[in-house]
Amino acid sequence: MHPPEIRARARRLYLAGATVAEAARAVGVSYPTVRQWCKVRPEPKQQGTELRCFRCRSDVDNPTDPEQYAYLLGLYLGDGHLVTTARVPVLRVSCADAWPGLITACEKAMRNVLAGAVQRVRHQGCVVVQSYGKHWPCLLPQHGPGKKHERPTVLADWQRTIIEAHPGDFIRGLFHSDGCRFANRVVVSGKQYVYPRYMFTNESADIMGLCQWALDLLGIAWRMNRHNSLSVARRNAVAALDRHVGPKS
Ligand SMILES: [Zn+2]
Repeated sequence: MHPPEIRARARRLYLAGATVAEAARAVGVSYPTVRQWCKVRPEPKQQGTELRCFRCRSDVDNPTDPEQYAYLLGLYLGDGHLVTTARVPVLRVSCADAWPGLITACEKAMRNVLAGAVQRVRHQGCVVVQSYGKHWPCLLPQHGPGKKHERPTVLADWQRTIIEAHPGDFIRGLFHSDGCRFANRVVVSGKQYVYPRYMFTNESADIMGLCQWALDLLGIAWRMNRHNSLSVARRNAVAALDRHVGPKS
């Protein structure tokens, strides 16, 4: 006999859009058993994501929480993937340990923007936060086959409007997924000085351009170290970025 919470978890994953095989793998129970749980006496399917998709609803054309949308778009463009070949599209964001509270913030953003259910999948060195939803592709039209840096990334006009209104949230998402804040230590005449600085690294010239654009909107000075690496190092620029991204604690 399997504990009821395992059974409930498998059914939740299935109802959220996972296949029986995915649900079986996630809970570590055999396929036939999980199939029995999911298919034999299925509960009514949960309300899909359609009702929450602001691109498909006729009565609204903006996200209810545009700050959270801007943040999630930043996370997605940085280190997220939208898999559209699954039975139900799945949005995955890898959360490294570098930023405290990132996993919770990512889950919150997914829920506030669209998700009914969000799962954490533990991998070595990171946690992947994922959510199944038929309407993720409406909200993240930058998805496509292959790697992000091998295809163009152009924002839709409605996305640009949201980012122009909330550039700080977008920048927080980008830096939380593909950025870091570190302390540069310099010793002058035996005295140690610490200069914090931010770096953002991304192979896509388009995504780098979006990062530069949003920093310009915020009036934060940046410079390129290499074609794929941007740094924010001036004292007042670091202080401004701390207000948006939050210093590493
Ligand atoms: Zn939609």
